Amino acid sequence: MQRTPNYDLHCHSNASDGLLAPAELVRRAVGSGVEILALTDHDEICGLAEARAEAGKLGLRFIDGVEVSISWGGITIHVVGLNIDPNNSRLQQGLQSIRQGRTERAKKMAQDLERVGIPGSLEGAYAYVENPNLVGRTHFARFLVEKRYVSDVKSAFQHYLVSGKPGYVPHQWATLEDGLSYIKAGGGIPVVAHPGRYKLTRTEMRKFLGEFKEAGGAGIEVITSSHTPEQYLEYAILAKECGFLASRGSDFHGPGESRVDLGRLPNLAAELKPVWHDW
Ligand code: AMP
Ligand code: MN
Ligand code: MN
Ligand code: MN
Repeated sequence: MQRTPNYDLHCHSNASDGLLAPAELVRRAVGSGVEILALTDHDEICGLAEARAEAGKLGLRFIDGVEVSISWGGITIHVVGLNIDPNNSRLQQGLQSIRQGRTERAKKMAQDLERVGIPGSLEGAYAYVENPNLVGRTHFARFLVEKRYVSDVKSAFQHYLVSGKPGYVPHQWATLEDGLSYIKAGGGIPVVAHPGRYKLTRTEMRKFLGEFKEAGGAGIEVITSSHTPEQYLEYAILAKECGFLASRGSDFHGPGESRVDLGRLPNLAAELKPVWHDW
């Protein structure tokens, strides 16, 4: 039987909330045995050119990607877009508007943190921002660790940056329809990121997947660092039942901050149709 190449179709550079520059990320991927890599920064595509150039030098196959933040049914859902055209203007404009929302949210987060006695978090978070157009909760988390309000990034989320905690600001991201229209305008394949992470009942998940498909969605991540082995199975079944392509990605953010390194994941089950089946 033919060996499956090592696909990693979800990771972040410092163009969003990852720690490595796009070229560094690509070098690490090669070192970790990845053969086909997609860079999928949050709501941002400005790291793709650098990553693609480095991949070309090293003989790594590179896929242009993005991870789009959307709001659906009162929660935030991430949709990865694979094989997008970074030059598409509707995609560029759509992502630009989502990034603008992030900038506004960051100001409100800082005001919230100030109210509980944490001053200077806006400047503090921006000290960890490489791309001034893309700020996120992870940058605030790194600031909170630096100032010893918490011991690590995970605790920063637990104590400050999630719903119900000071520092959490509810935010309206793109609608499902708009988010998918940006990806599709750029010719990309929309894939639900880490489906096991959302606080949805089975019924709600099926309702979401129905609407996702209706709006042009085509795939779901089955193998991701966010899933337990039980969830690998659960989402493999769901992918087959609902007729979705299956994807595999580490969601790597950086050494020391991610449990799973680039490309270090189990393979997709053989009976699934991989998102790369016709690449
Ligand atoms: P944002 O898109 O700015 O709201 O931030 C979402 C990002 O925060 C995710 O992509 C993760 O990188 C990070 N994140 C969310 N929840 C956690 C958590 N519990 N522990 C560590 N990082 C998290
Ligand atoms: Mn992230
Ligand atoms: Mn995500
Ligand atoms: Mn991600």
